[in-house]
Amino acid sequence: MVSIRQSFAKLGQLAKVCWLCQQPLRLTDVGGFCDYCRADLPRLPPRCQKWRYGHRGPVFGDAWYAACAWHPLSQNLIRQLKFQGRPELAYDLAPLLAAQLTKCYQLSGRPWPDLIMPMPMTRKRWQLRGYNQAALLAKQVGQILTIPVAYGGLRRLHDRGQQHRSNRALRWQNMQQVFHCTRTLKQQRIALLDDVLTTGASVSAAAQVIQHRGATTVDAWVFALTEANTQSD
Ligand SMILES: [Zn+2]
Repeated sequence: MVSIRQSFAKLGQLAKVCWLCQQPLRLTDVGGFCDYCRADLPRLPPRCQKWRYGHRGPVFGDAWYAACAWHPLSQNLIRQLKFQGRPELAYDLAPLLAAQLTKCYQLSGRPWPDLIMPMPMTRKRWQLRGYNQAALLAKQVGQILTIPVAYGGLRRLHDRGQQHRSNRALRWQNMQQVFHCTRTLKQQRIALLDDVLTTGASVSAAAQVIQHRGATTVDAWVFALTEANTQSD
C-alpha cells in the first residue's frame, strides 16, 4: 500500500521546478523559470553581435543575434541542454530566443529569413548524444516565428578534433571544408541556428557554404554567446 508520504513524494517528482534554482514553480510561473531567475537571465541588447568576432581573414554571414551573454546562468542552461541529457530544455529556451529575435528584426528593419537551418553535428557525435540541440531549438523557434526549418540541409563532415580545446586561430583553420550544403538556396534568406556561438568560426564556415549555394543573406541565431576555451561542442 502506498503511504501518503510516498504519494506526496511522487507528486513532488512530477512538479516542475525552475531550471536554474530548482525551486518548485508556482502556477503563475511560466516557461520553466521562477520570477527571480527569469529576471536574472543575462540578456543581451537586441543588436547584432558580430562586431565581437574579429578575425584576420574574411568573416562570412550577415547579422549575428544572441539572446544571452556569457554568464554562469547561461552556462548552466547550456550544460544541462547539451551535457546533462535534458533536451526538453529547448522548449523553454526557444521562446526567449524568439522574443529576442523579434526585437532585433523590428529594431533593425531587416527582413525576416525565409528558412531556418540548424547547425549540424557529425553523425558520430549525434549518435553519442542522441539528439541535436540546435535542431530541437530550431523546431521550436520555427514554430513560434512561423518560419520553416530545413533539417538535413546542412551536413557536418568532420569534428576536427575537440574544438573546445583548440585555440582561436587553430579553430578557424580547422573549420576549412567542414560543412556541406545539400540543397540550392537561390535568392533565399537563411538563418543559421545554434545553441551557442564561441569563436564564430563554425558560423562563418557554414555561412560561406550556404552563400555558395545562392543564399542572399545568412544570419546567425544563437541562444548564448560563450567564450573560447570552454566546453561548448
Ligand atoms: Zn529560479
